[in-house]
Amino acid sequence: MSNKGKHWNFCFAYSFAARVVSAIEIPTEEEYLIDFIDPGSTEFLRKISLPQKDTLLHDLIRNLNYSDWEWIVDHGGDDVSNELHQLVVGAEISVPDWLQQGRIGKHLSEAYELVERAAGSIAEATFHLLFADRSFLINFQRILSTHVSTMRAEDYPAIMEKDGVIKRPPSLPNWLRNAVFHRDKGRCQLCFRDLTGLITPQYEREIQLDHMVPLNLSGTNDPTNFQLVCQSCNTRKKDKYLVEKPFTFPYW
Ligand SMILES: [Zn+2]
Repeated sequence: MSNKGKHWNFCFAYSFAARVVSAIEIPTEEEYLIDFIDPGSTEFLRKISLPQKDTLLHDLIRNLNYSDWEWIVDHGGDDVSNELHQLVVGAEISVPDWLQQGRIGKHLSEAYELVERAAGSIAEATFHLLFADRSFLINFQRILSTHVSTMRAEDYPAIMEKDGVIKRPPSLPNWLRNAVFHRDKGRCQLCFRDLTGLITPQYEREIQLDHMVPLNLSGTNDPTNFQLVCQSCNTRKKDKYLVEKPFTFPYW
């Protein structure tokens, strides 16, 4: 989805999003990919080669999320007003009078707009939950890597370093560094050292981002493949192995 027409509601309803999370199956087979991405599309190639704010995980969530909600309006009758009402409340959007009174039939175009807005907010909340789930992200990236491993450099010379290996981006955007730093709570995800500079100032300048599924193992440059690491762990790990530990550092 482009930014055009996006009405982000930053008051996320996580309890509702948790229902979407529970409905998302961790992909286990490459065929599953075809359900939510088009592996030959320009959009997919753009997303695996350079970090984009609208990630491949957003695509996965939207695929599930929208197909679940669009039927509400497609059905069209006033008898689905309860479902739409729940969705709108779940997304923390104020309920318009016509919906309050259960009159969807006369407000179809507004109802479509409302579904899109609510589903967009819930998708973003779902992303927040899944982006914090390291095990999920590693599995997700591993499934993507099964496809990347089949991509030949001669077919995609602009983005491939060699067969099955995507080029390293020249630099990573600050929005990504910032997001991964905060998600990983300023700790190296391999040795758990504090990198905030608040507790141990000497590590402040060591902050690096690492591919959880290395590029050499057909990992992607999608934002969902990055983790925070310190310089020495990054040097030691290089591109040699996959980090499988489902590690989450407790708040205290
Ligand atoms: Zn470290």
